Amino acid sequence: MSAPPPVSSSVLSFEDARRVVEEQAALIQASVQAGATESVDLLAAAGRVLAEPAVADRDLPPFPRSTRDGYAVRSADLSQLPALLDVIGEIKAGERLERIPASIGSGQSVSIMTGAPVPSGADAVVMVEYSSQRGNHVEITRSVAPGENIVPRGAEAREGALLLDRGVCLNEAAIALAASVGKSRLRVYKRPRVSVLTTGDEIVDVDATPGPTQIRNSNSYSLAAQILKSGGEPVLLPVAPDESAELRRLVEEGLKSDLLLLTGGVSMGRYDLVEQVLSELQAEFFFTGAKIQPGRPVVFGKCDAGSAREKRATYFFGLPGNPVSTMVTFELFAQPLLEALAGESQKKLQFLHARLKAEIRVKTGRKRFLPAILSGEFENSEVELVAWQGSGDIAATARANCYIVIPSDRECLPAGDWVAVMMR
Ligand code: AMP
Ligand code: MG
Repeated sequence: MSAPPPVSSSVLSFEDARRVVEEQAALIQASVQAGATESVDLLAAAGRVLAEPAVADRDLPPFPRSTRDGYAVRSADLSQLPALLDVIGEIKAGERLERIPASIGSGQSVSIMTGAPVPSGADAVVMVEYSSQRGNHVEITRSVAPGENIVPRGAEAREGALLLDRGVCLNEAAIALAASVGKSRLRVYKRPRVSVLTTGDEIVDVDATPGPTQIRNSNSYSLAAQILKSGGEPVLLPVAPDESAELRRLVEEGLKSDLLLLTGGVSMGRYDLVEQVLSELQAEFFFTGAKIQPGRPVVFGKCDAGSAREKRATYFFGLPGNPVSTMVTFELFAQPLLEALAGESQKKLQFLHARLKAEIRVKTGRKRFLPAILSGEFENSEVELVAWQGSGDIAATARANCYIVIPSDRECLPAGDWVAVMMR
């Protein structure tokens, strides 16, 4: 076989690499949103991406809603306190229309429950705590402003208003909203299929007994977990050896999916063949490294070969093999692309801030995402690095619950500093 064309190296800053991924994600979004959908039961819709707009089927709330148990009153009647009002009825939540007084006159009130419709004439609800009822009269000891404790009809949404748009990932709030407008089934995007191809002569499957110099494949499983979390369907390919022909065969197989994730084989070692093989397949590389730690050798590109679809090339990431690098680079780069393939609207990386427990010293030149433990709560959140043996240390990263993010120009972060934290 002729020598493969050399891959010209392009190592970007974290920010530039991320921008490149976001640009590609934006490009594929339009085509995905015109793509395949399916209808699912509302109970199975959590975590899926909505493929149809959901609109209000009627005003929300559909009637002026009392937000308290108490008395619906005319606020002007309470200028002199205590005020004594007639009680002309009782309205509970779900009350039949014919049992609701047509109107409330001056000096009158109705006993009303949370979630019940406020009758016309009343412009406020006094909480039951500020009342004492005797027979058909109630004494009120607190005034109310007009509108107090009432949500006007349609104040949350008007009939026909757009409540949820295509591309929304359905969380519990979105599910509640869909339920509230009668959507027992929802149209969602099909999950993209994501092939996972682990490389390395030393890697054996979980069920095999590793030889003395072999290790078990953990990356395929951490990636499968991350893929599921991001709305994809993982397809685990057999482990590829560090040998071009078989690696190439499996890469072509993986390119038939919507996205191919490779792990290992992207560093500078003599047996790191992933870039070479992709280059032989005429892949286009967007970058071949990012100035981050862990995960510097991460590769991003797209390739026509093996792609089952006629028009679109398949995107791929070559993720470094060290397990913590694999996890971090998935999160930083593969996840936004996968979310776009899943039809989801783009979102920015989110960070929270916490106080650093102990000083951190690092070398400048790379943005770092270091496994850490966030503890405490409310305004007392604290964060500290986990002790680790570098990016191969799976046990350390399993003790961590977040990453401390260190800008590439910082050498020292003193204890007590507010630092950026990226949650898992
Ligand atoms: P590589 O990027 O191929 O040079 O691999 C870097 C390190 O990650 C080596 O120590 C590998 O043994 C390890 N590694 C590679 N792939 C996996 C995997 N699937 N599961 C666990 N460790 C891996
Ligand atoms: Mg390797």
